[in-house]
Amino acid sequence: MTTTAAGPSAADTGTDSLAVTDLTVHYGGVCAVRSVALRVAPGESMGIIGSNGAGKTSTLKALMGLIPRSSGRITLGDTDLSKVRARDMVRHGVGYVPEGRHVFPGLSVEKNLMLGAYHRSWKGETRDTLAHVYDLFPILRDFRSRAAGDLSGGQQQMLAIGRALMSRPRLLLLDEPSMGLSPKLIENVLDILVRLRGEGLGLLLVEQNAKLTFGVTSHCLVMENGSVAMSGTSEELAHDERVRQIYLGL
Ligand code: ATP
Repeated sequence: MTTTAAGPSAADTGTDSLAVTDLTVHYGGVCAVRSVALRVAPGESMGIIGSNGAGKTSTLKALMGLIPRSSGRITLGDTDLSKVRARDMVRHGVGYVPEGRHVFPGLSVEKNLMLGAYHRSWKGETRDTLAHVYDLFPILRDFRSRAAGDLSGGQQQMLAIGRALMSRPRLLLLDEPSMGLSPKLIENVLDILVRLRGEGLGLLLVEQNAKLTFGVTSHCLVMENGSVAMSGTSEELAHDERVRQIYLGL
């Protein structure tokens, strides 16, 4: 295991990889994220695990440009994402599923989904993407006319993922997708993530649930107090004694 830049393809310079170095975030005088480095290639999945307050959400938000960075180089292929505003990230192929879902409760399921494609002008392509999202989540097709606020927590999570997929991202960032879901629904969401990865999407998954994360990712970072304390393949980490004690409760 290493404590430097981690990723399935640290040696890879693939044109569509996300590459992050020296990502640092301060809230006032407090350093919440310290020199984080990672790499995610297309079709690969990276997890970030850690306890409450470790800096996981701040890392994702800083990547998305939703909070200011003190430093950090962020590229997706040839694009310098550190210069891209949060609202333009989708145009550059980055999808984001925030913690807590943030669906629009008064709008129908389908209107929520269509909001994810707001920047796209070609209606035919959007229709195909919508059909693909409905294939991934048949329940959303069944409930397409229902108000999003009437869905269960798990269904809203599917809607949030579906909405992010409507922009046809190359890279999907997910913040705690398992939060509040039943084990059965967690399994559903994980199956979908594995399928998306198989379709070539890069995944960066932030989770407190280490067991789940190891099951769906190839590589992971362990964050503690804002820093990367450990990194390696998910399999290596799942067998690490300290990880087993602290994060798997074994
Ligand atoms: P959780 O799993 O509980 O969401 P996390 O690993 O995602 O935790 P962050 O939410 O990134 O951790 O928080 C990292 C640190 O930054 C914590 O100490 C937190 O209290 C602090 N923090 C987060 N957001 C803010 C904010 N808006 N202002 C000040 N401090 C913040």
